[in-house]
Amino acid sequence: KQQGRNTWQWYQGNVQRISRRNVLLRHDLQVALQQGDQFELHYQPVVEAGSGRMRGLEALLRWHHPSRGMVPPGDFIPLAEQTGQIIPLGRWVLERACRDAAELLADGRRMLPVAVNISSLQFRRDGFLEGVQQALAESGLPPELLELEVTESVLLDGADQAITLIDRLKALGIRVALDDFGTGFSSLSYLRDLPIHKVKLDRAFIQDITTNRSNAAIVEGIITMSHHMDLVVVAEGIETREQQQDLVRRQCDLLQGYRFSRPVPLARLKALPDRLPEP
Ligand code: C2E
Ligand code: CA
Ligand code: CA
Ligand code: CA
Repeated sequence: KQQGRNTWQWYQGNVQRISRRNVLLRHDLQVALQQGDQFELHYQPVVEAGSGRMRGLEALLRWHHPSRGMVPPGDFIPLAEQTGQIIPLGRWVLERACRDAAELLADGRRMLPVAVNISSLQFRRDGFLEGVQQALAESGLPPELLELEVTESVLLDGADQAITLIDRLKALGIRVALDDFGTGFSSLSYLRDLPIHKVKLDRAFIQDITTNRSNAAIVEGIITMSHHMDLVVVAEGIETREQQQDLVRRQCDLLQGYRFSRPVPLARLKALPDRLPEP
């Protein structure tokens, strides 16, 4: 009994600490949303597997908190999803990414599609499609250069709605990729049912691909099957030359990871060579 009591006290204290921190973060997030200048997008190149040629970018959100410093997205995006703040935040990301990609295009050196992460809540919300169209119109970015990354949780409220929306985006020329494939409750049938264009293999499978034969077999199976369905396959989290070689051998189309570049601010991205990694 004594111990049970202590456990309970510890538990309650811990919950209070977590929620107190979240109350503070939530407030700070609100301030940041009003001010706008604490957020920044970093861009990570996506390269052709064999050549290392840059073929696209993924926009990744950064929050420079005035006193906490850099708060990683894994710490505030789930919170913003809980509070609904992901709606204005997601809107900001979409607009910024479209403007940055349009700027890259105007620079004339590169025509790279930009991928934007879309939270399921944002995706399923009324007016999402109109928001995307507005971001494209305001930035002048051609729809073919915008890609949206969603996870299988967009199917939570029923597959039909998600399929209809992806079809409408596709009709506008906007592509949709299925992110983090292989984690959570991923089902192979999603690949068949969703009108997506690309599948992104989660880093969890890639990490030990050169040593874990089961993961290697899963990756190879997903690649083969995806190709039969005319899907482009991207492997995330490539850090070593061995991982790259392995995935090239397995016919993976595109790669992304620290081996080629970390996510970097737009100015630094512009200075990267066309082929990565730098020799
Ligand atoms: P994600 O979409 O799966 O993004 C890939 C994450 O892997 C990024 O973390 C990226 O920095 C990291 N990464 C890339 N290459 C490597 C590598 O070689 N090794 C390792 N260890 N990591 C690598 P990041 O930027 O911290 O983002 C984490 C997650 O936060 C993202 O996962 C995404 O789910 C979410 N996120 C980021 N930006 C946004 C956004 O604008 N909107 C929404 N809704 N979610 C976002
Ligand atoms: Ca992503
Ligand atoms: Ca991912
Ligand atoms: Ca992930």
